[in-house]
Amino acid sequence: MSTTTAATRDLLQRRAAAVPRGPFNVFPVFADRALGAKLWDVDGREYIDFAGGIGTVNVGHNHPRVVEAIRAQSERFLHVCWHVAMYEEYVRLAERLNELVPMTGPQKTVFFNSGAEAGENAVKIARAFTGRKAVVGFERGFHGRTLLGMTLTGKVHPYTAGFGPFAPEIYRLPYRPFFAPGRDASEAAVRAEAEAALDRLFHYHVEPEEIALIMVEPVLGEGGFFPVHPAALRVLREVTREHGILLAADEVQAGMGRAGAMFAVERYGVGPDLVLTAKSLGGGLPLSAVTGPAEVMDAPPVGGIGGTFGGNPLACAAGNAVLDVLQEEKLPERALVIGERVMARFEALHGKLPYVTDARGLGAMCALEIGDPATGAPDPARTAKIVERAREGGLLVMTASGNVIRTLMPLVITDEALERGLSILAGAVEAVA
Ligand code: PLP
Repeated sequence: MSTTTAATRDLLQRRAAAVPRGPFNVFPVFADRALGAKLWDVDGREYIDFAGGIGTVNVGHNHPRVVEAIRAQSERFLHVCWHVAMYEEYVRLAERLNELVPMTGPQKTVFFNSGAEAGENAVKIARAFTGRKAVVGFERGFHGRTLLGMTLTGKVHPYTAGFGPFAPEIYRLPYRPFFAPGRDASEAAVRAEAEAALDRLFHYHVEPEEIALIMVEPVLGEGGFFPVHPAALRVLREVTREHGILLAADEVQAGMGRAGAMFAVERYGVGPDLVLTAKSLGGGLPLSAVTGPAEVMDAPPVGGIGGTFGGNPLACAAGNAVLDVLQEEKLPERALVIGERVMARFEALHGKLPYVTDARGLGAMCALEIGDPATGAPDPARTAKIVERAREGGLLVMTASGNVIRTLMPLVITDEALERGLSILAGAVEAVA
């Protein structure tokens, strides 16, 4: 089957000449329009979308409520800057997030534009509150491409190689046992290993009294869709409390209903100190947030955090509509149903094909891992073939960490489109035997 036609070919040439290769493209596709869980390219091809703008449209492409909120706001004003003239949409969205986060006591929220900025500002807020400098991330973690974001990110290629020097006072915990402790690991074993890893960090790298913040993704996103082990998250919560360290949940990819609850940490019953949101919060507009206890959030001085576009009126109007849709259409609950259907198909593939080395997930954040049948070593080449075959069949689906196929479909996807997408994907996985 021909995979690209005239309009796409021309645009691909212009893209190659005009835009550097750095901002990667997963598919040789130029979008013309998108609605719900479908996307049409400039050559008129229809795709079922399991990528969802990398987890940015949990409420679906162009949800009418979101589009209407943006339209209504655009007729009043596009941008006045929060620092110049305030507007209710910002306050209302902050109030709603403060209510929704799984934390007790009075909360406050501040808005930015991207996930990376949310991470940067969480670090600033934590340092201002604790008076400490050190910050701890995880191997395989991903927190964006800014200086602090990439320094916190636990993967060298392509995120940090050649981009040093990096921000100081950043430390890292190993991804095992916190993530992927092994199928047979007992609660007690994970707990003991997590405590030992933290002991090593405190003993050999940085004393706990110097640490402002530990930043954890409840489900590693770019790192391969590994949900944090519940026992390991509990250890993190206990140890951070014991030492006065703030615990931040980076919910940029796992949040806003994706994992089967508004915030993925709710699935664990563990309350963090700071919650970072972005991606699907804006329903397609650039919007991110940091939410935390009032006394923590008020630690930076007036003018110490903020920015020209943070909490832009259009983005906040979209964000309020997104929360309406997530709640009224019960999309976190729908994520659980989607996740069950995806996992049934993924488990079947795992049981049948030796190069499918794992199937895992939380809610609708599901992963199919492709590896060498004998050694289990990652097989990114075979994974890339699967993704391309799926695209040829009319499905956009992405990888994480090279050899993991991940699902980020809009949660409004119809049963019919979900089943069709899963069949295309299963066919592509079987075809590369
Ligand atoms: N944190 C997580 C968990 C992410 O998945 C991402 C992006 O994929 C980021 C932070 C960075 O977000 P952004 O690309 O909006 O800067």
